[in-house]
Amino acid sequence: MDTRDGARPVGQPLIIPIFIPHMGCPHQCIFCNQRAITGKTAQTPSADQIQQAVRRFLKYGKKRPSTTQISFFGGSFLGLEKKTIRSLLGAAMPFVRAKDVDSIRFSTRPDTISQESLNLLDGFPVSTVELGVQSMNDQVLDAAGRGHRASDTVVAADLLKNRGYEMGLQMMVGLPEDDDDGAMETARRIAELEPDFVRIYPTLVLEGSQLAGRYRDGRYHPMALAACVTLVKRLFLYFDTHHIPVVRMGLQASDGLTSSGGFIAGPYHPAFGHLVHGEMVLDAISSALDRMEKRPDPLTISVHPCMVSRVQGLHKQNISRLKKAFDLKKIVLHQDGCLAKDYLMVAGQHVTLPQTMVR
Ligand code: SF4
Repeated sequence: MDTRDGARPVGQPLIIPIFIPHMGCPHQCIFCNQRAITGKTAQTPSADQIQQAVRRFLKYGKKRPSTTQISFFGGSFLGLEKKTIRSLLGAAMPFVRAKDVDSIRFSTRPDTISQESLNLLDGFPVSTVELGVQSMNDQVLDAAGRGHRASDTVVAADLLKNRGYEMGLQMMVGLPEDDDDGAMETARRIAELEPDFVRIYPTLVLEGSQLAGRYRDGRYHPMALAACVTLVKRLFLYFDTHHIPVVRMGLQASDGLTSSGGFIAGPYHPAFGHLVHGEMVLDAISSALDRMEKRPDPLTISVHPCMVSRVQGLHKQNISRLKKAFDLKKIVLHQDGCLAKDYLMVAGQHVTLPQTMVR
C-alpha cells in the first residue's frame, strides 16, 4: 500500500494528494484493500480531475509552507502503463512550471524501479520517490503476498540514489511471520540503504483483504496497540540514531478506515504517532527521575510550548503515569519558548529528546 499521504508533520512539505488506488499493481498483498484505505474506487484520474484537485487545494489549502509537492499515492506509480505515467505527470507539471508547486512525488513498489522505468521520468519535475519495502525478510514478504524480494529493494534504492532522487522507504510491523526482532532487522537493513526518510505502518486487518479471512478463522492475530506503540518507538529511536527521520507512524484517520466496512482489527489509533512520541518523552522523563536521589514535589518540568502535548501524552496520561510511578502529588508544566525543542528541564536537570522528533 505504497503510501498514504496528506497530513503534514512539523517541517515536512505540504502534500497535495492524488489517489491512484491499487493502480499499476498486479499483486494483491494480503493486508491490502486500497478501497478500504482510500475510501475510493479504482479509476485513473483524468488530467482535468488532477488539475481541478490541485487548484482546489492551492486555493483552500492552509498557508504555503516552504515546499509544496503533488503526490501520486495509493497504487504503484511506475507499474502503470507508460502513457498513463506520462499523462499523470503531464497534468501535474504545469503547476511546477508556474511555481505554484515545487515538485512531484509518488510511491511505487521496489520491483517497478529499473533504469528503463526511471527513464520515463526524464524531463518531469519528480524529486521524491517512496518505496513500499514493508520488510527486508523474504519469508515475511512471501507470507504477505508481496511478490518481490528484499534484493529488489536494495537494487531499487541504489538506482534511486544514483539518480539523485530523494528517497523514502516504508516498512510495516506486525506482518504474518514477522516479530519484534524481525522488524528491528528490517530497520537495520533499511538504514543501510540510507533513505532520506522512513514511514512505519502497523499491519491492520481491513475488510476485503485476505488478512480479514485469516483473522476471522483465527490464523492471524494482530498486534495489540500498546505492544505496537512500543515496537514502533524502538524503531523510531533506531532510525534517530542513524539521523533518519520517521515522517509518519500509523495510518491517518480517514473515512475509509473508520467507517463500517473498512477497519476490522489491529493496532489502529487516529493519533498513533502522538502515542509513540508521548511514550518516548515519558521514558526520557522517567529516566531522569530514576537518576534523582530526591525528587521535588511539586515537580516542575520546563518545556518548549510546541512540545507540551507530547510531554502530557494523550489525555495527559504521561502526567498521571509519572505521578503514580514516582509517587508525586503534583507536576507543573512550565512553558519556556527559550528552551530548544529537543530539551526538557526536569527539576532543573537537562533531558535530551530524540532530535528527529522535533524536525
Ligand atoms: S503493492 Fe500490495 S499494498 Fe501496494 S497497492 Fe499493490 S496490493 Fe496494495
